[in-house]
Amino acid sequence: MAGGTLHALIRSTACRALRCSFGPRRLHTMYRMAELPETHQMLRQTCRDFAEKELVPIAAQADREHRFPTEQVKKMGLLGLLAMDVPEMYGGAELDYLAYSIAVEEISRGCASTGVIMSVNNSLYLGPILTFASKDQKQKWLSPFCTGDRIGCFALSEPGNGSDAGAAATVAHLKGDQWVLNGTKSWITNAWEASAAVVFATTDKSLKHKGISAFLVPMPTPGLSLGKKEDKLGIRASSTANLIFEDCCIPKENLLGQLGQGFKIAMQTLDSGRIGIASQALGIAQAAMDCAIDYSEKRLAFGSSISKLQAIQFKLADMALALESARLLTWRAAMLKDNKKPYTKEAAMAKLAASEAATAISHQALQILGGMGYVSDMPAERYYRDARITEIYEGTSEIQRLVIAGQLLKDYRG
Ligand SMILES: Cc1cc2nc3c(=O)[nH]c(=O)nc-3n(C[C@H](O)[C@H](O)[C@H](O)COP(=O)(O)OP(=O)(O)OC[C@H]3O[C@@H](n4cnc5c(N)ncnc54)[C@H](O)[C@@H]3O)c2cc1C
Repeated sequence: MAGGTLHALIRSTACRALRCSFGPRRLHTMYRMAELPETHQMLRQTCRDFAEKELVPIAAQADREHRFPTEQVKKMGLLGLLAMDVPEMYGGAELDYLAYSIAVEEISRGCASTGVIMSVNNSLYLGPILTFASKDQKQKWLSPFCTGDRIGCFALSEPGNGSDAGAAATVAHLKGDQWVLNGTKSWITNAWEASAAVVFATTDKSLKHKGISAFLVPMPTPGLSLGKKEDKLGIRASSTANLIFEDCCIPKENLLGQLGQGFKIAMQTLDSGRIGIASQALGIAQAAMDCAIDYSEKRLAFGSSISKLQAIQFKLADMALALESARLLTWRAAMLKDNKKPYTKEAAMAKLAASEAATAISHQALQILGGMGYVSDMPAERYYRDARITEIYEGTSEIQRLVIAGQLLKDYRG
C-alpha cells in the first residue's frame, strides 16, 4: 500500500542518516531541519533525496518540452506522496499537513511543475472528496487516485470569472437520474492527464453563490472535451487547459456534498490548497537561494569570490529572511489545520508571504548570477519564471489580502 511504503522509506532514511558521516553541507542541512519533529525531518530528507535523484535531472528538459513527468509522478504515487493525508484504509499515507507542506516544498525545490501536479492531486482533488464525499463515493473516487495510476483535477475558474468564483456560469440541471453539465472551466491544472475532476456548477442561478454545487466527473466522458494546452511562462511541465462541457451527463449520485454546498466546498478546499501553493513557493525560493549561494562562492570578480562583497551578502541576508519567515507562516497554517483550529487567515498569509518571497528571491538570485542568470544553462531563469504563478493561482495576492483583512475585521467586530 502506498502509505506503508512512505512510512517504510522514512524509517530506512533515518537509519541511513544515522550511519552517514557529517560533512559541512550535511551539518548545515541537519541544523535547518532541527526545528521539526524527527519523523518530519526524515520525511524531508526522503523527499529531498527523491527530488535530487528523480526530478532535478529532468526538470529543465521537461520545462523546455512541456512534458508531463509521467514516470516520476508514478514513483511519487508509490511512495505515498500523492495522497499524503488520506487514511491508509483508502490507500493514502495518513500523514499530517505539516508533512504535506514539507514534502511539497522538497518536490518543488526539485521541479516546481511536479510540485503543482502533486499539490492539486492532494489538496484540490482528494481534499474535498475526503471531507465531503459519502462512504461509497470515497471508495470509488479516492483509492485509485492515491497511487499515481490516476490523478485528479479541480475545476472552479471560468473564462469570465476567476477571483469572483461565486459568479460561476457553468450550469448543471437534473434530467431524470442524471446531471447535465454545460459551460467552460478554464485554466485547469492536470486537465490533460486527469482521470476525474471535481467540478463546480450552478444548480440554481437565483441563489447566486449559494446555488453552486460540486460534482464528481469521470474523465474522459461523453460531452466533455479538453481545450488546447496553455503555453505558459513557467511550470511548463504541468498541463493547463479548459474543460468544455456540452450536454455532459453524469449520474445523479455524483453530486459531492449537499446541493448548493459547492461554494463552501470550494472555499474550504482553497484554504488547504493555499498551504500547498505556499509550500511550492518555498521550494522554488529555496532552490533559487541555493543556486545563488553556490554561484556567489564560485564566481570570482575583482580578485575574490563575489560572496565576499557586502552588496551580495545583503541580498543573501534579505532572501534568507523572507524565505524563513514565510516558511514559519506556512508551517503555522499547516499545524493549525492539523490541530483542527481555524486557519483561513493564516493560510492566506502563508500563501501571500511565500509567493511574494519566491518572486523576490528568484529575482535576486538571477541578479546574483549576472549574465548566467539570464540563460537556460543555469536553472535561475526557470525559478524566476516558475515563481510568478504562485502569486496568481488559488487566489491572487490581492485576493489573499482581502481574505486576511476580512478575517481581521470579522475578529475585531466579534
Ligand atoms: C497556470 C494556471 C493554473 C491554474 N490552475 C487552476 C486549476 O487547477 N483550477 C482552477 O479552478 N483554476 C485554476 N487557475 C485559475 C486561477 O486560480 C485564476 O487565474 C486566478 O484565481 C485569477 O483569476 P483570473 O485569472 O480570472 O483573474 P481576475 O479575477 O480577472 O483578476 C485580474 C486582476 O484583478 C485583480 N482583482 C480581481 N478582483 C479583485 C478584487 N476584488 N480586489 C482587488 N483586486 C482584484 C486580481 O488580483 C488580478 O490582479 C489556474 C491559473 C493558471 C494561470
